Amino acid sequence: MRLSQLRVTWVRPSSAARSRRGAASGLGLRAPFAARSAGLGGSRCAAGRTGHGPRCSSSPTAASCEAGRCSGRICGCAKVAFWTPRSCSLRSGEWQMSGGTAGAAFWRPASSTCRSTATEDVGSGVALVAQRILSHGVTSFCPTLVTSPPEVYHKVLPQIPVKSGGPHGAGVLGVHLEGPFISREKRGAHPETHLRSFETNAFHDVLATYGPLDNVRIVTLAPELGRSHEVIQALTARGICVSLGHSVADLQAAEEAVQSGATFITHLFNAMLPFHHRDPGIVGLLTSDRLPPGRHIFYGMIADGTHTNPAALRIAHRAHPQGLVLVTDAVPALGLGNGRHTLGQQEVEVDGLTAYVAGTKTLSGSIAPMDVCVRHFLQATGCSVELALEAASLHPAQLLGLEKRKGTLDFGADADFVMLDDSLHVRATYISGELVWQAEAARQ
Ligand SMILES: [Zn+2]
Repeated sequence: MRLSQLRVTWVRPSSAARSRRGAASGLGLRAPFAARSAGLGGSRCAAGRTGHGPRCSSSPTAASCEAGRCSGRICGCAKVAFWTPRSCSLRSGEWQMSGGTAGAAFWRPASSTCRSTATEDVGSGVALVAQRILSHGVTSFCPTLVTSPPEVYHKVLPQIPVKSGGPHGAGVLGVHLEGPFISREKRGAHPETHLRSFETNAFHDVLATYGPLDNVRIVTLAPELGRSHEVIQALTARGICVSLGHSVADLQAAEEAVQSGATFITHLFNAMLPFHHRDPGIVGLLTSDRLPPGRHIFYGMIADGTHTNPAALRIAHRAHPQGLVLVTDAVPALGLGNGRHTLGQQEVEVDGLTAYVAGTKTLSGSIAPMDVCVRHFLQATGCSVELALEAASLHPAQLLGLEKRKGTLDFGADADFVMLDDSLHVRATYISGELVWQAEAARQ
């Protein structure tokens, strides 16, 4: 079997990385890389770590793997040669992966509902999603909770711990909390009755709403809310990524939020002011010259063919390709077919590849899996395979500060990777060097 794409994804972060990022860390990303392998079996060293072509002579050996020093990471076994197909690039003596798939998938597990039976069963819902997405090349992900009342956060969040991936499912990198501190005007599918603003003691209100933030990795908020800067600074001080979204902020407010520590934009173009040439709003961050020196802004794109017109996708990509992060924004209805399903406090109706708030034309999320988004993004922008894959692997890893372990095939990185065929369909998914899903086996 000849496989043209191999992307390495994230596995679990090291304890050092965890301590660096604080209690909320533990995210992993995957990094695909375009390499043609002579055979997967031959690419693994004795301890099941991923082999690596370049630099093998100076790298750890299979013997060191056997001694357990690699711990599911990329090491230097040189038994197999990788060679570049098409446009794969080799930089600094190491394979540079090109965008990948679901590393940055933000999924909404069937968990954020306030129905007591559902909130008590969130763990199994997340586990089911984690298992399903292996077939889409996802090795780790950030489950997303939509706006909910405090009692739901208190019940649900403890049920979604940061967790390593494996045959049981993709790893959980930490939770993405989208709301409730967002704009009423741009709330989208979020229930208005549970939206909140920041009170006098803003961060205290955040803690009272969510509860402990130990397993929280990303918080989406609207920066125009009063006292948002206190909250942004407090969250980023804890190693939590602050994302701007569901907002009516103008560009100045968005720039001030970035100066306070925000680094991400939630589903660019969706649920924010449209681009205007005299005030481009949050969208203007892509080309702003008022960001702190060295600060890199990332932005999520739902490249499912529905949420964003291909022309808008191309505008964003061409303006700031290195910040683009593919996200699925997938609702739990993914894979369940047409009909009504639950998202948070609301019913959603799935029709083909589109999910609406039931009875309306308000988009409530995507039902396209990550590999579909990668293929659509590639087709819509005409970018290279590497760039398409990096948008789902390297960039999310950089966003979350995990680029030394995830989104890369460098030595010491976690040996999570996905085998793809020439059309970027997933053939096999590996986590920590272990096969966790295979297309051939799934067909039997
Ligand atoms: Zn949203």
